[in-house]
Formats: sequence, C-alpha cells, structure tokens
Amino acid sequence: MECIHTGYTYEQVGEVGIYRLPLFSAQKGIDHGFSARTGGVSEGCFASLNLSFTRPEDRKKVVRNYEIFCDAANIPLQSMVMDTYEHGTTILRVDRNDCGKGYLLPSLPACDGLVTNDPNVTLMTGHADCMAFYCYDSVNKCIGLAHAGWRGALNRIGSQLIKMMKTEYGSNPTNILVGVGPSICPKCFEVGEDVAADFEKAYPNINIRGTNEKGNPTIDLWKVAAEQFLEQGVKRENIELMGVCTMEDDRLYSHRRDKGKTGGMTAFLRILTT
Ligand SMILES: [Zn+2]
Repeated sequence: MECIHTGYTYEQVGEVGIYRLPLFSAQKGIDHGFSARTGGVSEGCFASLNLSFTRPEDRKKVVRNYEIFCDAANIPLQSMVMDTYEHGTTILRVDRNDCGKGYLLPSLPACDGLVTNDPNVTLMTGHADCMAFYCYDSVNKCIGLAHAGWRGALNRIGSQLIKMMKTEYGSNPTNILVGVGPSICPKCFEVGEDVAADFEKAYPNINIRGTNEKGNPTIDLWKVAAEQFLEQGVKRENIELMGVCTMEDDRLYSHRRDKGKTGGMTAFLRILTT
C-alpha cells in the first residue's frame, strides 16, 4: 500500500494540550482536536485531565475537566454531544436538540459514532487507546466523528461513517476529508492468534499483520483504518493519520499501558459558521 500522509501538531494552552491534524486545521469551516492528559484536576491514575465518566472517579472532577478543556479548546460547553462508547458500529445523526447528552444530560442511545450538519453541535467521542475517525465534507457542510476500538475497526465503523454521510446529507465520498487520531500503534498492538486471524479474514487485500520481539502477532490498525475509507471511495490524498501512539506518548492515557487504571481522552469536531 502506498503511504498515507502522517502528521500532527501539538498546541499547549496553559497546561492543556491539544493534538490536531494539519489537513483539518487548514479547513476554515471546522474546528477539531484531541485532548492530552495534562492540565486537569484529577489525581492518581486519572491525573490529570480525565474526560471519561465511565471511570471510577468523582463525576464532579470530570465535569470540571470538561470546563477546563472546552475553555482551552474554544468549545462552547453547551454544544457538546457525546458518544456512548460501546465498541459497536452504530452511528447516530444528531442536531441541536441533542446538545448536552452524555455530559450533563442523559446519554444518547448506544453509539460509537455521530454525524451532524448543525453548527450548534460539537461532536465528542471518548478514547483511551482507540482511534478517533474524523470526517468532513466541505461541499455539503457536514461532519462525522467515531470511536474506533479494534472491534469497531475490524467491523468497519469508518465505512459506516461514510455511508451515513451519504444517506443523511448526500455526501460524495470524493469530497470527504478523513483524519485518524492518536491510538495504539502498529508495533504496540499485540493480539492473539484468533484476533489476528479475524483481521486477516476481514481485510484480505492488505498486509496488516506483523510480529513483535516476543514473537507474537501484531495488527496495523492505521492501515485497517485507511483501507475502510478507501473502500468507500475516499481519496488517498484526503486521508491523514496523526501517527501518535497512545502507549508510547506519555502525554496521553493508554488503557493497555496503564493496565486499565487510567483516564479517558476526547476527540472533538464542529462546524464553524463564520
Ligand atoms: Zn506504539
């Protein structure tokens, strides 16, 4: 497979860190990013900007962390709509009537991805080793964001995201830009034989299997990500990977590195009206 463009920027606003995709930063019609773990009020294994409500932590601290992050990232607090983090492939269409769901209001029905064309909405998805898929159609002015753990990646949640943008907003995949956030990298994602076999069966046309120094199989989730967007007609030059590994970059939480005792990060994407 030809190389997919890889790159990211890291901005610090006070103590808060924000990762961004250069391909998306160049677009005037949207704002986007991915949170680092610094600058929040959480302590211990959650230190310090834990943005996951599903961890055993005081909810008030997570709410405070969102206030801190949204202030730094310029996200209107009341605009947030959150996924529910199921490791499935369900994508929901949301609008201004969903604002606050998953934050101060009860959660949406089970979903790992969201699409909208409403500039009053900021899409938010939770992560701790899993990829964030960002999609933007600048012609039909709509966006999509998904949480893609290995199960979601295996089952093509990225393809689902493109299909939803087609059916809900009439998007042409050739107009859609795609970004992939920080996640466990091809070298670090060790799997069992059964999972490796599932991936090889689901993606027979690309070489995604490796072997680590222990002799165990690894899977390249970034290639899996790119492939499912290419299959849907997204142009190769319109795909960008951050190429940042959550296990190796200590500015990030990693479920696997921290053996489950860790916090969560957020991806965000919104349409700008100006
Ligand atoms: Zn790695």
